[in-house]
Amino acid sequence: MGKITIAIDGYSSTGKSTIAKRLASALNYIYVDTGAMYRAVTLFALQEGIINAEGELDEATLIEKLSEIHLKFVPNAATGRSEMFLNGENVEREIRTMRVSGFVSKVAAIKEVREKLVKIQQEMGKDKGIVMDGRDIGTVVFPDAELKLFMTASPETRAARRYKELLEKGEEVTYAAVLKNVEERDLIDSTRTISPLTKAKDAIEFDNSDMGLEEQFERIFDYSQRVIVKLG
Ligand code: C5P
Repeated sequence: MGKITIAIDGYSSTGKSTIAKRLASALNYIYVDTGAMYRAVTLFALQEGIINAEGELDEATLIEKLSEIHLKFVPNAATGRSEMFLNGENVEREIRTMRVSGFVSKVAAIKEVREKLVKIQQEMGKDKGIVMDGRDIGTVVFPDAELKLFMTASPETRAARRYKELLEKGEEVTYAAVLKNVEERDLIDSTRTISPLTKAKDAIEFDNSDMGLEEQFERIFDYSQRVIVKLG
């Protein structure tokens, strides 16, 4: 059976990465979380003071320093998952904090940042056999992907999921702050000029507000099998 490319896009905290990871492991495909890449660039900007204490982002300096940013996904043998390394340092935990979430959509709206990351992503998927999740995978990164999914769920459902995750990681947050962040990111992500978050014409829309993980996975796995069998 030939390998295909699977693009999973959608709003924040729609559970894209959980499904994408599981799908990749069931198909024995590579999984790439592109949000982690935008988050790592944002962390770099915070570490370098390119985002200052007032929360102002110096776009020109970030663009100038893009060549100093080296990203790598490194598999963790204990968890079986890949972790994001920024310039040789494991930043998997730090990139998931609310601090990074608060700035990532601004960083992701910069054309040069997107160009750099899209190029890396296309290189990672050049041999197919990949499940990639993000915001522009089916529209920009892999417009020819054989299977495209567009995940949605209500903002409240998504904020509740993210809130639970953050609490489990020991972060001190309120549900209201998480909901605000989810709504702000949706707005910036879907209204930015470059590669805004939109559903690709040929993507299957998947609302999982009222669907358990098992049911979601079974349905999506089924879609993938149909495409793989059809293409032979
Ligand atoms: O998927 P996650 O919520 O971790 O993504 C963090 C942010 O990175 C998104 O809110 C969006 O601003 C940006 N992003 C993007 N394009 C992608 C993946 C993520 O603009 N392909």
